[in-house]
Amino acid sequence: RAKATGKSRYKVFSKKLHEMTHDALQLENDLKEAVEKNQLQLYYQPVVCAKSEKIKGFEALLRWSHPTRGMISPVNFIPLAEENGLIIPIGQWVIEEACRQLKKWHLSTEFARHMSMSVNISSRQFMHNDLEQTIINALDAVELSPDFFVAELTESSVMEKPESVIGQLNRLKKTGIRIAIDDFGTGYSSLAYLKRFPLDYLKMDKSFVDEINANHENMEIAKAIITLAHNLDLKVIAEGIERMEQLEALRCLDCNFIQGYYYSRPVDGLQASQLIEGWGDI
Ligand code: C2E
Ligand code: MG
Ligand code: MG
Ligand code: MG
Repeated sequence: RAKATGKSRYKVFSKKLHEMTHDALQLENDLKEAVEKNQLQLYYQPVVCAKSEKIKGFEALLRWSHPTRGMISPVNFIPLAEENGLIIPIGQWVIEEACRQLKKWHLSTEFARHMSMSVNISSRQFMHNDLEQTIINALDAVELSPDFFVAELTESSVMEKPESVIGQLNRLKKTGIRIAIDDFGTGYSSLAYLKRFPLDYLKMDKSFVDEINANHENMEIAKAIITLAHNLDLKVIAEGIERMEQLEALRCLDCNFIQGYYYSRPVDGLQASQLIEGWGDI
C-alpha cells in the first residue's frame, strides 16, 4: 500500500515537474521573442529631493507585456534572463532606451535638464566586460553627459567577491557615470570595501522604511545607514516611501532623496512626461 502511494505520489510529482519544466522552457522562448517583438517596456519612477521636493531624476524599471500572460514583473523574468544570458541584450536595450528617454526630457522641458536616469544592472551584466562601452555608446548616441547616468548595482552583486569587483567599479566610474548600491542593508556589506568602492549613492532598502514610524529598531537602523553614508560622503536614496509620516521621519534623519508610491508609482514614458509637466518648476 505504502509503495502504491509512493508511486502515485511520484507520478503526481513527475507530472508537476514536467509542467514546470515545460512552463519554464516556454517562458524562455517567449522571452527571446519578447526582445525581438518589442514587448519589453520601461516604466519610470521619480526620485525626489527630500528637502526641495523637486524631481532629481527617474529610475527605469523594466516591464514585459506578454501576449497571453499579461504584464510580467521583472522579479519573475530577470533571474531567468540572468541564467540564460538574455540579460546581456535585454540590459543593453534598457540602457539605450533609458538614455533616449532622458534625452527627450532634457530637450522638451527646460527645468528637466538637470534630471538623471538610474538603471538597474544585474550581476551578470556587471561582470560582462562590455558594460562600460555599452553605457558610453548609449550616452554618446544621444549626446548625454555621463554624469546624468546612475548605475544601480545590488549590494549582493558587489559584495560577493568584493576584491575582484573593485577593478570593474573603477572602470565604470572612470566613464564619468554615478554608481548606486541598491537594496542596501539586505545583504552583508563589508564596511572596509564600502569605503574603497567608488560610490555615489546608497539606496536604503524598503524594508527599513516600512515600519519606520512604528518600529523603533527600524528608525535606529535607518539613522545608522544615513549616518554611515554621510560619513563616507555618499547620498542616501530611501526606497518604498508610501506615507507622509515616513517622509517626515526620513527628512528629520537628513535623508537626501525619496522614492516611492507616496510621490508616484512607476509609470510609462508618456505618463512620466505628464508627471514632469505637472510637477512644474517648484
Ligand atoms: P529595485 O531596483 O529595488 O526597484 C524598486 C522596486 O520597488 C520596483 O519594483 C518598484 O516598482 C517598487 N517600488 C517602488 N516604490 C514602491 C513603494 O512605495 N511601495 C512598494 N511596495 N514598492 C515600490 P519592480 O519594478 O517590480 O522591480 C523589481 C526589481 O526588479 C527591481 O528592484 C530590480 O532589482 C529589478 N529590475 C527592474 N528593472 C530592471 C532592469 O531593467 N534590469 C535589471 N537587471 N533589473 C531590473
Ligand atoms: Mg533599483
Ligand atoms: Mg532597490
Ligand atoms: Mg528593492
